[in-house]
Formats: sequence, structure tokens, C-alpha cells
Amino acid sequence: MTTSRDSLFSLEGKVALVTGAAGGIGAAIAQALAQAGAQVAVHGNRRPADETALAIGEAAAAFSADLSQSEGAEQLFHAVRARFGRVDLLINNAGMIHRAAAEEFALEDWNRVLQVNLTSVFQLSQFVARDLIAQKAAGKIVNIASLLSFQGGIRVPAYAASKGGVAQLTKALANEWAPHHIQVNAIAPGYIETANTEALRNDETRNRQILERIPAGRWGEPEDIAGTAVFLCSRASDYITGSIIAVDGGWLGR
Ligand code: NAP
Repeated sequence: MTTSRDSLFSLEGKVALVTGAAGGIGAAIAQALAQAGAQVAVHGNRRPADETALAIGEAAAAFSADLSQSEGAEQLFHAVRARFGRVDLLINNAGMIHRAAAEEFALEDWNRVLQVNLTSVFQLSQFVARDLIAQKAAGKIVNIASLLSFQGGIRVPAYAASKGGVAQLTKALANEWAPHHIQVNAIAPGYIETANTEALRNDETRNRQILERIPAGRWGEPEDIAGTAVFLCSRASDYITGSIIAVDGGWLGR
């Protein structure tokens, strides 16, 4: 008899940590993972993830950590480990963007973006993988990359550098941890309607230019990313590692 636990996409019995899950893409991913059967640790920073946890119910618990501080990742991992006993699935979703002309970009802003978007991704991945390897357990890491993992963008040099780094880090970690049955992949979202992109949508010209270039003819919604995250966390993707999957309504194909 086939049980839901045997199903290709079931996450029953798994513990997931989703960073930046108070809203936007992270909240949609956390809800989808819970629907697939996972227990979910939802992380927030300035905006607590309590509402996301409440919407999911007893399978979720909220945690808080500032990932712009080098000790934030370690504190977060240990708090989740203490509550759930382990982390099988890590979704490195938290990210920030800072816009300024490259020649005026302050080093302090550069360092903060790199710490949140790239260094904390490495730190959390290390903590989770070390623990999985020590327990000889399989796991999945899904990093949220960007179209700017492939393209340079304008006025966002730190964001582009950090997301390019996320793509390379995904491949580097995938190579080292495949023998330990830990798959590391990334999702590169296209233009998704979240707080992150509000400024772009409010700029009539940019909004029109963006829409004209998206073959699907619409902005993406956070839920558009969630299915790929479930897939990359499930048994269905066991032979996929080191991949960066664009979920962009066709943008990169043009
Ligand atoms: P969002 O709603 O603004 O989510 C970003 C999350 O990252 C927030 O929950 C934020 O928490 C968290 N975060 C920012 N700084 C942090 C810090 N110092 N410490 C801990 N957490 C921090 O925007 P989103 O669009 O859903 O973004 C989610 C991910 O998708 C990001 O990695 C983003 O780069 C990526 N992405 C988005 C798009 C898009 O079109 N929306 C496209 C490509 C990639 P606080 O606000 O509480 O600090």
C-alpha cells in the first residue's frame, strides 16, 4: 500500500527552517512545506514571523534573528535545533536589497548586503550540513537566488554580487555534500510581487518595461515559487543537485 509518506512530494516527518518567512516568498514557501506535511520553523527579523506560524498552526514555530550580525545564523540554528531536534530542510530565503549608484555605494551597505544575502547563507548551510553529516542523515538545502545571479542589474552592485555568489555557492556546496545525501539547489525567482519590489511596481515606467519583457505577461506571486520549493525539498528531486531553477514567467529565455 502506498502511504502519503511514500509519495514523491510528501514532506511528512521532516523539519524545515525557512528564513525571512514573515511575509512574501518565505511565508508562501513555509505554508506550502507545511501543507506537504513538514514541521516548519519560520524565521523573522524586524517583522516577526508569528503571523505565518499562526496561519500554519501547531506544525510551526516562530524564531527571530538578525542575519546581518555574524552570530545571527548560529543563534537561529541552535534555537531551532533545541525546539525541533534537527533540521532536515533549509530554505535560505532571507535577503535584502540596497539601491545606489556603484560609485557612491557605501562600504557599510555593501558589507550588510553581502552578510545577509551570502555569508549567512553559507553559515546556516554549514550548521545544518555539519549536523546532518554527524547524524548520517539526508537533507535538502534550497537557496533563493535571483535573476541577478545571471544578470548585473543597475544600481544594485552588492545585491547582484551576493546573488551571483549564491549561485556559485549552491554549486560548490552541492559538489561537496552530494556524497552525504544532501542536495543543494537554488530557485531564481523572476519579478515577484512582494515588499522587495514595491518600489519597482510603483514606478510606472519601470513597471511597464518589466511587464513588456515577461513572456507570461504578469508579475509572479509568492505562491508561484512555493511549488518549486516543495519539489526541491522532496524525494522527487533526489537526483537534482547544484541546479539553479528559474521561476520567472519566461524572462531569462528572452
Ligand atoms: P521580503 O518580503 O522583503 O522578504 C525578505 C525577508 O528577508 C524579510 O522577511 C526580511 O525580514 C528578511 N531579512 C532582510 N534583512 C534581514 C536580516 N538582516 N536578518 C534577517 N532577515 C532579514 O521580500 P521577498 O521578495 O519575499 O524576498 C525573499 C527572497 O527572494 C530574498 O532573498 C530576495 O532577494 C529574493 N528574490 C525576490 C524577488 C522578487 O521579485 N520579490 C526576485 C528575486 C529574488 P525583515 O524585513 O523582518 O528584516
